[in-house]
Amino acid sequence: MKLANRVAIISGGNRGIGLATAKLFCREGARVVITGRDETAGRAALAQLADSAAREPNALFISADVTQNDACQRIVKETIDAFGRLDILFNNAGIILRNRSIEATTEDEWDAMMNTNVKSMFLLSRAALPHLRAAGGGAIVNTSSYLGLVGAPGLAAYSASKGAVINLTRAMALDHARDKIRVNCICPGSVETDMIYTAWQAYGDVDQAARVWSAKHPLGRIASVDEVARLALFLASDDSSFITGAAIPIDGGITAG
Ligand code: NDP
Repeated sequence: MKLANRVAIISGGNRGIGLATAKLFCREGARVVITGRDETAGRAALAQLADSAAREPNALFISADVTQNDACQRIVKETIDAFGRLDILFNNAGIILRNRSIEATTEDEWDAMMNTNVKSMFLLSRAALPHLRAAGGGAIVNTSSYLGLVGAPGLAAYSASKGAVINLTRAMALDHARDKIRVNCICPGSVETDMIYTAWQAYGDVDQAARVWSAKHPLGRIASVDEVARLALFLASDDSSFITGAAIPIDGGITAG
């Protein structure tokens, strides 16, 4: 197993990409803490992760808003209290705001985007780093987007936040390399989660939207959550032991052109 005896925190782990990754990490032997604000979703996610054969719990859900410093401190403290160590941080929580040029974006919307998609990584990483160091090293994986690599109409605040994630990743990788803490980010194209289904519903015709979104990707489809989870596992595990500071597209070729 690739993550035996390791402990991971996954923000935004109560659904979507985060939950798929939590399931894979558990299958690979990790004990996992998932976070999100929605407690109902958190309980349902935990039920999917719980290993009924294990003598000790292998997973924990912590309800927390990762834009808040005290909440991020609490996530890390409760992880250490429960599992005694921390090896992996998957900074994955995020929100999107579509159909907004800068002129159509309110200051509150801008702040929400930056606080959720970027500041949360600063807060959670800052709380986690002493424990990753104490474990003798570890891995931080940040979720950016292909929209951190290229722009797209109506996505100014989101693109700005995801671009910031990429350079935050590079800077953190340099700061913490000597502590054997690797920091990388993933840049997904469209992925089959609530985030995309909401966009398709707003489009009006969900089937037509699915065809339009698929056609944007050279491979002719969007990604499954499991495909993205496998990249997160690669970057969190020793399989990527000489990779740090990388921003890896997993986008069906959308940024290749
Ligand atoms: P979902 O909307 O399914 O999940 C988003 C997750 O983030 C939820 O678990 C949500 O939990 C959590 N979250 C949002 N805001 C907060 C907050 N303030 N505090 C704590 N948790 C929060 O989306 P995905 O799984 O698709 O997205 C995961 C990541 O992947 C995001 O960063 C997204 O930008 C990125 N991404 C997604 C793509 C896609 O096509 N789906 C493409 C490229 C990148 P809760 O609401 O309970 O707080």
